[in-house]
Amino acid sequence: MTFDDFKLEYDLLDGIDAMGYTKATPIQEQAIPRILNNEDLIACAQTGTGKTAAFVLPILNKIITSETKHINTLVLVPTRELAQQIDQQIEAMAYYIDVCSIAVYGGSDGITWEQQKRALKKGADIVIATPGRLIALLNMGAIDFGQLQHLVLDEADRMLDMGFVEDIERIVSELPQERQTLLFSATMPPKIRSLAGKILNNPVQISIAISKPAAGIVQQAYLAHDSQKDALLKGILNSGTFKSIIIFCSTKDKVKVVHHMLQKAKIDAKPFHSDLKQEEREEIMQQFKNQKITALVGTDVLSRGIDVTGIDLVLNYDVPPDPEDYIHRIGRTARAETTGTAITFINEKDMYRFAAIEKMIERELPKLALPESLGEGPIYNPLAKKPSFKPGGNRKKFPPRNK
Ligand code: AMP
Repeated sequence: MTFDDFKLEYDLLDGIDAMGYTKATPIQEQAIPRILNNEDLIACAQTGTGKTAAFVLPILNKIITSETKHINTLVLVPTRELAQQIDQQIEAMAYYIDVCSIAVYGGSDGITWEQQKRALKKGADIVIATPGRLIALLNMGAIDFGQLQHLVLDEADRMLDMGFVEDIERIVSELPQERQTLLFSATMPPKIRSLAGKILNNPVQISIAISKPAAGIVQQAYLAHDSQKDALLKGILNSGTFKSIIIFCSTKDKVKVVHHMLQKAKIDAKPFHSDLKQEEREEIMQQFKNQKITALVGTDVLSRGIDVTGIDLVLNYDVPPDPEDYIHRIGRTARAETTGTAITFINEKDMYRFAAIEKMIERELPKLALPESLGEGPIYNPLAKKPSFKPGGNRKKFPPRNK
């Protein structure tokens, strides 16, 4: 199906052409006509499916064919990176039309905060916001949603995981009841269904291949003891096979340790985690996009919504705690029908987690042999159980108190 089939405005079609989109993706095929038809929608779609354009295009089309100049659409997102990225995509798709958008998120400096407030007073057509910052603006009376027509919740499962449910309900209570609401989520746990029941009106449901990695990703794993991981990583990075790489670690501390180790080995990499200032994160992301940095080492902050084309390797230094996180992490490569590689290091403690991933993707993934110089790795046991801890076993022992 081409975009002409949706009967969109010509200037918008020019923007789509300029972005190089020729065919609509499955989520776009299903969602765009529904959204144009003013229906509420719940869409279960993973990142990388083209879901952003699936809601942005019909909304842009409706904005250009309407007369009003007030805030028309609110898009709620879990992270500032996703807010910025959607804002950039809107800017590109709306290149030939007169529609403006603004991203509103926390962690920015005083100047950006003032700019955001001024822009909101002047009235942007589309506001993309993280819930916390939006609540702050609502409390200051800096924003008027009286004429709002569309509410979009993007990556709703992530927003709930991050504890935003009350903020979302508070925000929704400030919006006109007569509106169109669209909810996008990679997973549909009961808490999402319950939120949807409260804020959507008789929604159409669309489900796009729930939680399956994109077909273009080659997925592999190494069974490696912790003591073997650094040498294995350096070997892969030094092989010269990959040009744009994301390395995921499960904690900030691990990110710092791995980054330090790579620095010592003179491998070009930058860390990316929530301890960095917003400007530092933006600068690093820009350099990575421009391929001035080969590798980023980050936590799951990087796994959602970061849309950088040309990432050819996603490397999981450890197995992500949740199978969904695995899908999000590896979804950073092979964006929109390109190809890429995802490699995961599995130690003996993480086997049960990796088995859960294989179960979810309904595939056993190849375990590659370690280079001989590293010796033997652990033996894979997909039936391994979560390691159990003795009660109190992790607690520090204090010396007896002096009497
Ligand atoms: P998303 O799932 O919204 O994060 O989109 C993933 C990537 O697919 C982004 O880089 C989009 O620019 C790209 N994309 C979206 N729609 C299309 C399309 N119809 N054809 C080609 N690429 C697309």
